Amino acid sequence: MVHRRLANLLHKLLLRDDVAIYRQLLICLCLCLGLGLIFIGREQSIHQSQIQKTTGNCGAVNTAIKLPTPVKIAEVVVDSGISRTAPSDEATRLTPLPKNTKATITSTKGDWLRLDYGAWIHRQETRTFISNTSSESFACDISYRQLEAKTEVIFPLQTPVPISVKQGDRIFTLTLHNTTAKNKIMPIKNNPIISRIFWQQEKPKRVKYTFNLKKAQQWGYKLKYDENNLILTLRHSPFTPTFTPISGISGPLSGIKIVLDPGHGGIDSGAKSQEGYLEKDINLIMAKLLQEQLMLRGAMVYLTREDDIELSLGERVARINTIEPAIALSIHYNHAGTEKITQKRQGMGTYWYHPQSLGLARFLQQYVVKNLGRPGDGVRWKNLALARPTVAPSVLLELGFLSDMEELQWIVDSQEQQNLSIVLADSIVEWFSSTR
Ligand SMILES: [Zn+2]
Repeated sequence: MVHRRLANLLHKLLLRDDVAIYRQLLICLCLCLGLGLIFIGREQSIHQSQIQKTTGNCGAVNTAIKLPTPVKIAEVVVDSGISRTAPSDEATRLTPLPKNTKATITSTKGDWLRLDYGAWIHRQETRTFISNTSSESFACDISYRQLEAKTEVIFPLQTPVPISVKQGDRIFTLTLHNTTAKNKIMPIKNNPIISRIFWQQEKPKRVKYTFNLKKAQQWGYKLKYDENNLILTLRHSPFTPTFTPISGISGPLSGIKIVLDPGHGGIDSGAKSQEGYLEKDINLIMAKLLQEQLMLRGAMVYLTREDDIELSLGERVARINTIEPAIALSIHYNHAGTEKITQKRQGMGTYWYHPQSLGLARFLQQYVVKNLGRPGDGVRWKNLALARPTVAPSVLLELGFLSDMEELQWIVDSQEQQNLSIVLADSIVEWFSSTR
């Protein structure tokens, strides 16, 4: 294409067609410029690792960029702002926005605000104000610190920008919207979980940080803003050399913290069998039996409730976030629903939401079904509050169907409950040892 145009140009030069020559020259220049840009782009991505190691002038970090004309800003005022793909409670959830995240409002629909990076958030979770400070930022001078059981990566920004997280196979990615990467990320050395960090300016104002991980199992993460510094905490395996067991109890789970969440409670009975058995009661019995078995194996076990009390989903999740266990399991029993009462549905089902919980969900499901010879109701991805915590692999177990007459006998039998708690505890021990 290029050389044909060049040949054409030479031909025109010989014929001295002045207007055509200038036009052709212009076209050639544009083509060369385009090719050059593509080449520079390729070079940049190939040599990213070198670029990260250079030191450059980041400008005034943590100082907001001023705008000539004011814009309307939304600031997240809750700990975890729910961002969605569309202005509706039914729309798909995106990565929650940490408290203090700020973005420009580009449109509104009812009580929903559309933010500059494309997501929607409910007005209730924000405060809005007019500002002449830009909601855009540069990212530079990123640093990390390795602590006892976690690594913190600190991104000093000019303003708390919206973020997105994705987990993949040995990969964790953090995207900063409204952000331009300037330079410099500290090369990471001798970290127990991260082998490499690199960044890519995906779009003019969107930068993606990729963390290559040493092991397949991810142990949870937290994201928060400390003023204009974004702090990403990646948790280490409870078995890394830097980990000190908390208690002196010996056993395969020695020093491992586990949260068990007996579903429902108080006026919320959960599912109900025809005979009047209430899910909330069986959940609590099962959680206490499992707690006993896990403690015998050395674990430190925390229950979100120990009595028949009401506890909101938010309170349960908050407890998990505070305790920071190695894993969290929510204990439930299922019901096939009245319309499906004639349909035979039996067995344990396991629910996960974040990729870091999938391995655990699969393992527990397969182990229990196989070792107890029970029917399986599958491993399912579901957007459930108790599967959504990010701080640790979190799985929701539906241990059987109260709606199935035959299975109900097994569910309420105290000896069978004891057997189930032993097999569940063993499956947890085996899963932990599989991740070492
Ligand atoms: Zn339930």
